[in-house]
Amino acid sequence: MKAPDLETIVSNGLCAGCGLCASLAGRDRLEMKITSCGRIRPHAREKIDPETLEKIRFICPGIRVTGADASQLASAGTLHPVWGPIRSVHRGWAADETVRFRSAAGGSMTALGVFLLESGKVDAILHVRASSANPMRTDAQVSTTAAEVKSGAQSRYGPAAPLVHVHRLLDEGRRFALLGKPCDVAAIRNLSRIDSRVEAQVPYCLTIFCGGIPTLQTAHRIAAYHGLSEAEVEEFRWRGHGWPGPTHIRSRDGKNYDLSYEQTWFDPSRPWSYDIQFRCKICPDAIGELADVSCPDGWVMRDGKPIHEEAPGVNVLVARTERGERLVSEAAAAGAIGLAPFAVSEFDAMHGDHLPRKLEYPARMAALGFAGVVTPRFENLRRWRMIWRAGLGRSFRAFLGTRRRIRAEAHREPIH
Ligand SMILES: Cc1cc2nc3c(=O)[nH]c(=O)nc-3n(C[C@H](O)[C@H](O)[C@H](O)COP(=O)(O)OP(=O)(O)OC[C@H]3O[C@@H](n4cnc5c(N)ncnc54)[C@H](O)[C@@H]3O)c2cc1C
Ligand code: SF4
Ligand code: SF4
Repeated sequence: MKAPDLETIVSNGLCAGCGLCASLAGRDRLEMKITSCGRIRPHAREKIDPETLEKIRFICPGIRVTGADASQLASAGTLHPVWGPIRSVHRGWAADETVRFRSAAGGSMTALGVFLLESGKVDAILHVRASSANPMRTDAQVSTTAAEVKSGAQSRYGPAAPLVHVHRLLDEGRRFALLGKPCDVAAIRNLSRIDSRVEAQVPYCLTIFCGGIPTLQTAHRIAAYHGLSEAEVEEFRWRGHGWPGPTHIRSRDGKNYDLSYEQTWFDPSRPWSYDIQFRCKICPDAIGELADVSCPDGWVMRDGKPIHEEAPGVNVLVARTERGERLVSEAAAAGAIGLAPFAVSEFDAMHGDHLPRKLEYPARMAALGFAGVVTPRFENLRRWRMIWRAGLGRSFRAFLGTRRRIRAEAHREPIH
């Protein structure tokens, strides 16, 4: 099959919207724009030359994810068949109670970002935050102060392209850490294979567990449910100010509208859904196996299931590299985060919603290949072990489900 160009990657539903291609090509040639279906996608302002396109194909996490090298665990840790490389694992939270309260979960990502800056390990933090011009949208942000990092605390359940600034930061010789999604981290790891600056200048990548990115339309529908248009919204917070905290809107005329996490995502009567992109449905790594530290929610459990009742925020801190393990222990020793025990065996029940994608990704890939559409290269992610764990029946059903989606062209996406 012909190597895909950018339009083919987008139209086949494989773009994750990270922004690294725009960073590489330069904004005058490629910019990230919200498309008619409410996703953030690269938009060519001029024709991309073959050499640049070849590099984009190599770094694009939409079509290439290479799992962590088991040698990173050489002296310690385990390579868990499902949950990936683990050097150490703890419950964790920001020691600063204001950060902990305002953040999406325990505020560990924000606290670690602040610690990295204040300890001089990096010059800047690359992350995202609510757009100040239009708070329902999300901007990439380069922060050099603790206050700026803290302004990005909370989950942005919508299009966000944190990597648009990567090449500018590399060119300026700055050392920076990324706080982003697992696919953003995969993009940085791809880039490190063709750009030798990355290893030295991006020493830390921290990430979430990721259920997928909804469209901007979801935010529109939530605002419309409260009778508000985008222009009338002054603040749009998905989570935080509690754990998980409300989906909070403040209108420009000063009124407040709150929905609980359960009301926002688990009430089928609401006129919106978690309408994730196709790339998320076939994601082989939404748990940040390539990060130095993954920071999912450390949900409170009842009867073997996570509950979403308000509580002081807690993450699980999964250190996946030696550098990540050191970061967690140094941040704890410096009093930036609190830690408590966590057992890997708790993951299956707490984050069981990640098992289908993890176990079924090989079958989903096979369905793409069988249909003759563009098929990403997902390598070194324990494909055979996943098939073994899933079993043949489950894998076959996953294959049929994806084949049905492809036949119905449900993976297709408009490029503008
Ligand atoms: C789309 C999405 C899906 C998620 N799905 C899950 C899930 O399935 N399971 C789970 O345990 N947790 C999930 N989370 C993560 C969870 O909501 C918390 O953000 C995470 O546990 C980190 O908590 P924290 O308190 O340490 O984060 P905070 O200290 O509040 O920091 C959050 C960090 O995440 C970054 N961030 C937020 N939104 C985005 C985005 N759209 N793109 C790139 N970076 C972003 C911010 O830059 C910030 O640095 C999801 C978050 C998002 C945005
Ligand atoms: S996933 Fe990232 S690199 Fe690939 S096309 Fe989309 S924005 Fe560009
Ligand atoms: S599910 Fe995977 S592809 Fe989708 S946003 Fe999350 S990490 Fe990226």
